[in-house]
Amino acid sequence: MAPPPRPDSPRLSAPPKDTPAFSPDKTSVIYVLGGPGAGKGTQCANLVRDYGFKHLSAGDLLRAEQDREGSEFGEMIKTYIKQGDIVPMEVTVQLLENAIRDVNGGEGRFLIDGFPRKMDQAVKFEEAVCPSRFVLFFDCPENVMSERLLERGKTSGRSDDNAESIKRRFRTFVETSMPVVDHFEKEGKVVKVMATKSPDEVYEDVKKGMTERKFERTKN
Ligand code: C5P
Ligand code: MG
Repeated sequence: MAPPPRPDSPRLSAPPKDTPAFSPDKTSVIYVLGGPGAGKGTQCANLVRDYGFKHLSAGDLLRAEQDREGSEFGEMIKTYIKQGDIVPMEVTVQLLENAIRDVNGGEGRFLIDGFPRKMDQAVKFEEAVCPSRFVLFFDCPENVMSERLLERGKTSGRSDDNAESIKRRFRTFVETSMPVVDHFEKEGKVVKVMATKSPDEVYEDVKKGMTERKFERTKN
């Protein structure tokens, strides 16, 4: 008899695939990485305004699924997020694939914010959903991120913007997410931006990176 599925390995109904669901000719994917509080969301908003990207935050999609009435994954997601652990990748990859398809059938430019945070997510997404163009990586020291998160925590209502969760999120980032950045770095696919300065100054560096990678502005 087959063993029952473990609670941490959800079975979603997507069939196994050998070719990605979206072609990189029509779907441009940029991953946006950086520790919690590095300013990923802020810079993504700038890129949406000037470069015609759609912004998909893996964390936001997980929080929406967590709160969706009738979700079979809600309780599991809640536990992982509070602990600062990475949610089993099948859930996150499927949510992203659905969200990409919901925008114009998947054609266009996408910023995938806060993803991939673990190697298995990267491998699965590139294989089954869409190969990425590059990684936009925001480099920021922990003391700066910590200050920003505690400030945000006063109004964000997020279950993980507190000192205890922040500590765990930093550890997960160093142990689990930095290896993903290192992996893409070896492939020459990382654009690194220092994220300590003001949002406007950081954006100047982001724009330089976009030009280097041959992404033109769609608005002036
Ligand atoms: O990116 P954000 O800080 O909004 O993510 C919040 C939480 O969502 C993470 O700490 C993690 O628990 C979960 N997450 C994940 N996999 C991702 C992105 C977020 O498990 N790729
Ligand atoms: Mg965010």
